[in-house]
Amino acid sequence: SVRVRFCPSPTGNPHVGLVRTALFNWAFARHNGGTMVFRIEDTDAARDSEESYGQLLDAMRWLGLDWDEGPEIGGPHAPYRQSQRMDVYRDVAERLLSGGYAYRCYCTTEELDRRREAARAAGRPSGYDGHCRDLSAEQVAAYEAEGRAPIVRFRMPDEPVTFTDLVRGELTFSPENVPDYGIVRANGAPLYTLVNPVDDALMEITHVLRGEDLLSSTPRQIALYRALMELGVAKGVPAFGHLPYVMGEGNKKLSKRDPQASLNLYRERGFLPEGLLNYLSLLGWSFSADQDIFSLDEMVAAFEISAVNANPARFDLKKAEAINADHIRQLDVKAFTEACGPWLTAPHAPWAPERFDRAAFEALAPLAQTRVTVLSDITANVDFLFLDEPVWDEASWNKAMKGDPAALLTTVRGRLADAEWRAEPLKDAVLAAGEEHGLKLGKAQAPLRVAVTGRTVGLPLFESLEVLGRERTLARVDAALA
Ligand code: GLU
Repeated sequence: SVRVRFCPSPTGNPHVGLVRTALFNWAFARHNGGTMVFRIEDTDAARDSEESYGQLLDAMRWLGLDWDEGPEIGGPHAPYRQSQRMDVYRDVAERLLSGGYAYRCYCTTEELDRRREAARAAGRPSGYDGHCRDLSAEQVAAYEAEGRAPIVRFRMPDEPVTFTDLVRGELTFSPENVPDYGIVRANGAPLYTLVNPVDDALMEITHVLRGEDLLSSTPRQIALYRALMELGVAKGVPAFGHLPYVMGEGNKKLSKRDPQASLNLYRERGFLPEGLLNYLSLLGWSFSADQDIFSLDEMVAAFEISAVNANPARFDLKKAEAINADHIRQLDVKAFTEACGPWLTAPHAPWAPERFDRAAFEALAPLAQTRVTVLSDITANVDFLFLDEPVWDEASWNKAMKGDPAALLTTVRGRLADAEWRAEPLKDAVLAAGEEHGLKLGKAQAPLRVAVTGRTVGLPLFESLEVLGRERTLARVDAALA
């Protein structure tokens, strides 16, 4: 059965590229009734942090991408944090050495650099030249006597490595492009190049879906896998599929340091997990030619790795927002009002907590739901209800108050004061006031909107006035006229 893994390193904040990888693995597992393994690749103590580890788990939980084996829930191949598996790697490295699949390399960095330069100058391949491949016992003894600390290097086969990428089709890497490579540092610390395929083998991973940036390590891992099979550590070589690059601003690869790439940004702005995942699924995949909005369940049902496109995908924030807005509109009102919760209190909301009035909010929520792109937009849509005075925005004010709207606003005030306090009659009142000044409704209501809400755009005005109430509305118009 299908077993996939999501195996991030806990460095920095989670970013959208990482989420895309997690999503494709998860969807593939769920589509095939397989197993999602979540593994933490924290063998680089200098770069890994507990904070980042916590953020990764929190991100996966927030997104709703659940795992069947991994941190906090364990599983048959526990532990799932590589920092707790060091003896496993030490043991495998020993076996690779004694089986002749790997060797100790005593070359110093300076020696490697010098020979690389010389190879370059001569137009020869500049990767590792195999210097320590077949050292005699005397040479080894001499290096040891010098006090050199060796690294462990994997011996690549002399034949090309060919495999069929699930996304890209058949690929061949020739030996001169894939030299022998280090798997254990001189200080004994195992490298990604070793621990990643070893764990994939031990955890019986059947499909490796990951970013295209890792494509160059695949021939090495396949060769290592074959060695592990001969040693009885691996049962087979997994299938590999490399997900396309994601391009950001200016058609440059979206980097994890790009602020646009930070998952936290999307959470803080109030993307729904479903909306964000829907968008990210389109980075390299498509649901159908004429539908790009769908639920996670629909994605799982439709997801085929063979439908992933090898061409770079473009990250389009506007499209992400439009898709999110659609998912917000699809919520039932109750779910929407609940989802707004965090943005109705500090630190997001600018009003004093005791001024918040749930009934007033719920009265306008259905109107707001069709207008917000991200949940954080809700604050500006309803702040006029809960602030003592509307937000003062000079640009809006000047725009709406062009000319001399005092006469108009006075007429409007008079009509409103006499009106029944429901949206329809309030609208009729403003229509009638506008007629007196030869103005259509749009122009007639503009100064009123700014006087009451502080903004030139917002929720439908007359429903807003109905909820705000006669007294507060008239007081704000009076304040604007004063
Ligand atoms: N820990 C590696 C990374 O985050 C995993 C790469 C892989 O999927 O093999 O880049």
